[in-house]
Amino acid sequence: MTDFQSLGLSETLLKAVASEGYTSPTPVQEQSIPPLLEGRDVLGVAQTGTGKTAAFALPVLQIMGRKRPQGKRHIRALILSPTRELAAQIDERFAAYSEHMDIRHRVIFGGVKQNPQVRALQKGLDILVATPGRLLDLIGQGFVDITKVEFFVLDEADRMLDMGFIRDIEKVLKLLPNKRQNLLFSATMPKSIAKLAGSFLNNAVMVDVSPKEMTVDRIEQRIMFLRKADKRRLLVQLIKDERVKCGIVFTRTKHGANRLVKQLDQSNIAAAAIHGNKSQGARTRALAGFKDGSIPILVATDIASRGIDVDGITHVFNYDLPNEPESYVHRIGRTARAGRSGIAYAFCDDTESGYLVGIQQLIGKEIPVESSHPFHFIGAIPKPGQKPGKIKEKSGTKKRPRNQNSNRGRQNSNPRQNNNRSSSGEQSSRSRGGNRSRNNRGNQNSRGNQNNRSNRD
Ligand code: AMP
Repeated sequence: MTDFQSLGLSETLLKAVASEGYTSPTPVQEQSIPPLLEGRDVLGVAQTGTGKTAAFALPVLQIMGRKRPQGKRHIRALILSPTRELAAQIDERFAAYSEHMDIRHRVIFGGVKQNPQVRALQKGLDILVATPGRLLDLIGQGFVDITKVEFFVLDEADRMLDMGFIRDIEKVLKLLPNKRQNLLFSATMPKSIAKLAGSFLNNAVMVDVSPKEMTVDRIEQRIMFLRKADKRRLLVQLIKDERVKCGIVFTRTKHGANRLVKQLDQSNIAAAAIHGNKSQGARTRALAGFKDGSIPILVATDIASRGIDVDGITHVFNYDLPNEPESYVHRIGRTARAGRSGIAYAFCDDTESGYLVGIQQLIGKEIPVESSHPFHFIGAIPKPGQKPGKIKEKSGTKKRPRNQNSNRGRQNSNPRQNNNRSSSGEQSSRSRGGNRSRNNRGNQNSRGNQNNRSNRD
């Protein structure tokens, strides 16, 4: 196994790495650090959680430490990050790795007052970590000078484009000096990113530790088929049965995240939502509570969750399946970090089976099905030959009619089955927590559905 010494890192940085408790470099570090130390550009296909921050921060610090330019400090390294959370975490990593160096770094992002950021900029900085909006804002006001940048890092480039930052990136690129070293990291490499990379990287070394290769073997994955209306109860049951102390739940929408937090609260589960509509203060509080263990469940949307760097997440729940398959890999990568193991549950309702097809194509395998739960619904399983992508929501599966249990709601689409409905389901919706008889009943229901479905098919 390679060690950090053989990558050519200086004593100072080796000391910093050792005090972080890193014993050996991760693949992205092993492949990126040597070419970066030689002054090459690097194009890294790596997601958060692979150790990519150290992969760029260590060589940048080392090169910066070789020679200090004369005169007042100026920004020598600029790191652009799509979200405030990720930007803050990158800055925090720079703090850790540069502990024994004379380096000033600072993070700037929107949603907070600019004055403290301006003061830090006026004192002089070596490294600036920024989100694009605030950076351009402060450049426009004359507080930031990026004309002497030697290292430009574009982190999470795919997410940057998703979030509509392409124009901002182009503006920043125009302001940078021609002679500089460039790094681009992206979890995925769609054409748009390849094009962007081609526009500013020079003869870059490609480092690919993309999910397909590393599909996170330590993460146990399970898919559970059910109706949308049953998702909340299954989630509550799993959180309680498995005594989840540190879990993250992904919803597709911000509104869905808020609603779920309220519903979990009604089931006596402390949870907090983290998404783009929350104020910076609320996001920071939610993350702090999650990190210190007082809030066991974080409910997040994809964008807000990017870069949440919390070790020890034992459970990831894909409450809604993501419509971009790559997001699934990012999501489950929240667990099993730093060598630990974790479990990722994915809930799939009958409108989401096409998303599951796309996810399984991306990761190149079928996710094991967990059907021994009371809400198993065969109608959500992808059909043979089903194409990836969105399935139209059927009328009748969208909302459960008032005063009707899941059995009723789920069979609205088939009038013949409705005639056969028994009243036993009424009990099932009232009794919470899934006892044995309920489990059995649930499974029988799903078997019943299976038969009905195969009859129909
Ligand atoms: P990143 O992908 O940069 O967000 O890093 C994910 C996590 O891995 C962070 O908590 C780092 O502190 C940690 N980490 C980075 N490099 C190593 C390493 N070589 N060994 C162990 N942990 C690491």
